[in-house]
Amino acid sequence: DLLVVGSANADLVVRVERRPAAGETVLGSDLVVHPGGKGANQAVAAARLGARTALLARVGDDGHGELLLRSQRAAGVDTTGVLAGGAPTGVALITVDPSGDNSIVVSPGANARLTPEDVRAASGLLGSSRVVSAQLEIPLETVVEVVRNLPSGTRFVLNPSPPRPLPAELLAACDPLIVNEHEARVIAGGKPDGSPEDRAAALLALGPRSVVVTLGAEGALVATGETMTRVPSVKVDAVDTTGAGDAFTAALAWRLGTGSSLPEAAAFAARVGAAAVTRPGAQESYPTAEEVGAL
Ligand code: ADP
Repeated sequence: DLLVVGSANADLVVRVERRPAAGETVLGSDLVVHPGGKGANQAVAAARLGARTALLARVGDDGHGELLLRSQRAAGVDTTGVLAGGAPTGVALITVDPSGDNSIVVSPGANARLTPEDVRAASGLLGSSRVVSAQLEIPLETVVEVVRNLPSGTRFVLNPSPPRPLPAELLAACDPLIVNEHEARVIAGGKPDGSPEDRAAALLALGPRSVVVTLGAEGALVATGETMTRVPSVKVDAVDTTGAGDAFTAALAWRLGTGSSLPEAAAFAARVGAAAVTRPGAQESYPTAEEVGAL
């Protein structure tokens, strides 16, 4: 019922006491390799919650690609749309500091070869989805092709990450556009000290049907043309925020497909995001519906 179109990366993670300055070297922990990428993360997050989920993505014909296919299948994701070859599997180089904040360098690899043609060839997957969710770790023209091929009645959710200016055609299809504060600032511009409400209003003026601004520990702001609603998160001990936004987006997209209103879906998604930051990693940290209920 949920189709995620997006990236699949191997996340190479090292913990550090602090990040190196230019020209400096710091020693970190042993390397850990996790399945990641925003598309793959969203698909696993939704499937773990119980959503019937498929992933349209491209990986390399290599060990990292196999790791990604294994993790998708283990979560119960339909991987018939995961294409292989064309370039090495995408890689994300991640450092995590003691406060749990992360910084990331992405080598897109095969993600950059997921083409509009691949989208057209996946019309079967698109046609059987109530909600389609995308991000921007694949070519922008591929994401635009998704909205051009969206069956009528299928809802489209976009997390524009990494952020960049978006064409009007893409913005008009978003219901909602889901951004954190950094993405909101890049896409909507405005004063550095503007409130989330100001940010959401500026984003709505660009044409999406609705906007959700995620606010970390503060939860999220839901904005439509008529209303703005703050949705709280749950107070938790944050261990690692990697992939929290992906879990939030996946949970929200799934709930919209089951008939929840946007504020209801965002409230559920905020709890899923909170659960995800209490454990290290991205996909490994994602909760089941039962764990979200127990939070
Ligand atoms: P991103 O990971 O994209 O930067 P956020 O940091 O806003 O996105 O996190 C997404 C969601 O995850 C938030 O809306 C919130 O529900 C949850 N979340 C993130 N960090 C925390 C935290 N420290 N405590 C509780 N919930 C959190």
